Amino acid sequence: MAFKKLEIIEPILKAVAAEGYTIPTPIQQQAIPLVLQRKDLLGCAQTGTGKTAAFAIPILQILHEQKPMAPGIKVLILTPTRELAIQIDESFAAYGKYTGIRHTVIFGGVSQLNQTNALKRGVDVLVATPGRLLDLMTQGYIRLDKLQIFVLDEADRMLDMGFIHDVKKIIAKLPAKRQTLFFSATMPPEIQKLANVLLTHPAKVEVTPPATTVDKIVQSLYHVGKMEKPQLLLHLLQDKAIVTALVFTRTKHGADKVVKILQQHHIRSAAIHGNKSQNARQGALSDFKNGTLRVLVATDIAARGIDIDELTHVINFDMPNIPETYVHRIGRTGRAGNTGIAISFASIEEREELRDIQKLIGKTIPVIHEHPFVMGAMTAAPPPVQRHRQQQAAFKPRRNDFQSQSSGSGNHVRRGYGAQRGGNR
Ligand code: AMP
Repeated sequence: MAFKKLEIIEPILKAVAAEGYTIPTPIQQQAIPLVLQRKDLLGCAQTGTGKTAAFAIPILQILHEQKPMAPGIKVLILTPTRELAIQIDESFAAYGKYTGIRHTVIFGGVSQLNQTNALKRGVDVLVATPGRLLDLMTQGYIRLDKLQIFVLDEADRMLDMGFIHDVKKIIAKLPAKRQTLFFSATMPPEIQKLANVLLTHPAKVEVTPPATTVDKIVQSLYHVGKMEKPQLLLHLLQDKAIVTALVFTRTKHGADKVVKILQQHHIRSAAIHGNKSQNARQGALSDFKNGTLRVLVATDIAARGIDIDELTHVINFDMPNIPETYVHRIGRTGRAGNTGIAISFASIEEREELRDIQKLIGKTIPVIHEHPFVMGAMTAAPPPVQRHRQQQAAFKPRRNDFQSQSSGSGNHVRRGYGAQRGGNR
């Protein structure tokens, strides 16, 4: 099915084609006609399914058909993280570039001045995280009395991240007569209750992420001592085939230490995690996307919502302690028809995590036995001392740097749209 069949107007069709999309994803096929019919929507879908375009395209169309438009915010999209907010705003920019519809994004952790200036210039579509939105509403910069469409994105994550009270406060301030689109990957009871209150006779769309995503990715496992992980990483990065690598650590501290060592070895890298400023995170992400950085080291929370089409390698420097997080992490590679490679480092302390992951994915991750840092205890084979020492001498990493690795936070499963993705944002 082509986008044209969904009765999308020419300026949006042209923009969608410019993004390289040819076929609407299943959620787009289902949701676009329903939103255009002005129905409330309950969407069970994760990031990676094309859900942003599933609401952004019909919203842009509805607004375009109202031209010339009265001033005021007509659409509010509430999303839990800054990264997601920025990506949604970028989607409105991309799909709406021939519509003249004005959009902006607001989020916390940065000065509000640019955001309030944009609001003063006039905005049709506002993308926001809950805290900053409430703040600017209280300060009188934002009025929502002209609101027609409210999108609640990643509702279950709002709950997980402790934003649900802010969300409810915002909802209480919205006009009662409106169209509401509600997206959540899972439906725990509290989220179901919220959906029941928010939606009127909603149409339901549900898409399960392609189960085969993980199978398309070449996975491998290195048994390695906790202390040897940096050396192993440096060793693997000698391979020029690793064009880009997203490296996951469990802790912010761990991410900084990995970057420090990589930089000592002149590997272009940066860390993104919650202690970094918003500007530093965005800067690192765009440097990674444009190839200035070869390695991006991230914690699971900071990596939420990050979407990189050309990522060749995902490296689990630390094994995640929630098995679904493994699927989510490795699903970042192998997108848009590219080959994806996922490499995991497991120390003896991570045996249980590894067992749970293999149980979840229903397969044993192939082990690479031939490497200079083979860990005796897990493989029953003693490490090849000679080569091991030679490698250490070659890399001279500061071994003490990696002594403290505490456990970190969990995450959801989020899988990519897989081979059908063609975007390159
Ligand atoms: P989302 O689930 O909204 O985060 O979208 C995931 C990714 O899929 C984004 O990188 C989009 O650029 C891409 N995408 C969305 N719709 C399509 C489509 N119809 N064809 C190919 N890629 C798409």
